[in-house]
Amino acid sequence: MADKPLNCVIVGSGPAGYTAAIYAARANMAPVLYTGQEPGGQLMITTDVENYPGYPDGIMGPQMMEDFKKQAERFGTDVRYEMITATDLSGEVKVLTTESGQKIEAYTVIISTGASARWLGLESEQRLMNKGVSACAVCDGFFFRGQEVIIVGAGDTAAEEASYLAKLCPKVHMLVRRDEMRASKIMQKRVMETENIQIHWNTETVEVLGEEEVTGAKVRNRVTGEESEIAANGFFVAIGHTPNTGIFKGQLDMEDSGYLITKPDSTKTNIEGVFASGDAQDHVYRQAVTAAGTGCMAALDAERYLTAKELI
Ligand code: NDP
Repeated sequence: MADKPLNCVIVGSGPAGYTAAIYAARANMAPVLYTGQEPGGQLMITTDVENYPGYPDGIMGPQMMEDFKKQAERFGTDVRYEMITATDLSGEVKVLTTESGQKIEAYTVIISTGASARWLGLESEQRLMNKGVSACAVCDGFFFRGQEVIIVGAGDTAAEEASYLAKLCPKVHMLVRRDEMRASKIMQKRVMETENIQIHWNTETVEVLGEEEVTGAKVRNRVTGEESEIAANGFFVAIGHTPNTGIFKGQLDMEDSGYLITKPDSTKTNIEGVFASGDAQDHVYRQAVTAAGTGCMAALDAERYLTAKELI
């Protein structure tokens, strides 16, 4: 165990974590960042990112995260390729346990563990990932403009993404597994009133079709058992996300769905010195740029906390 606790430990290495690291490092907080199991986060499974400001020609997701990391390291962030598997956040000195069993002490903790998209779990879905299969219409919809697409899901995200896709694509097939949608009434109404969205009720996906890229999907009607095929170039999955916050259960306030609750207009959690940023606390916007924004906020909040407590 280190003699003096660290000023700041950042857990997670997506846009939120690295942005927090850049700000914390430049504020002389000597941050240590634990990357977690998926260094770089969700952008590592994206191809082109075209909506992040500052990249007029777009950039590949993995390259972007490499750049974020380099920028964080340039100012002295200590990036460690390990998971944090347990935490005790109760005292002024927080204790984090790494997967190798090491105990790390810190005055502040910035949580940016992100969320993982849920998938249907089909082999064909995995095989055609980034070859037409996507979990983010806002990120990837543009690549399918002028083409037919399928979207699976019936919550607010699926409804919102179907509406978004309908502005780009001549036809959007929405696969809803029950005979009703979970989305809010207003979102349902919007979807139902959009001419080029066709809702397929009681419909589940049997297989995503295509060899090198998506050509459609084989679907089954859950009432009649009848199987059919829908031709499409894009296959979007919008069946929810799971925030990676399991290790904080019982310590940090979170919604039933696991999203961390922060105080209004800040990144403060219910525990002093613990801040939450990025998708671990945001189920509404979930964009790289909004995650980066809250990562910045978390570092500023952590710095103010350390200064107020005269810990740095
Ligand atoms: P939800 O959990 O609300 O919805 C998930 C949807 O996916 C459900 O309709 C569910 O079907 C369906 N689903 C789950 N598993 C499968 C499967 N294996 N096959 C087919 N369909 C499946 O997730 P969302 O991401 O939509 O929303 C998360 C939260 O964020 C919600 O609270 C939502 O209200 C909020 N949100 C708010 C927005 C806004 O206010 N603008 C925008 C986006 C999200 P079933 O209904 O049958 O269980």
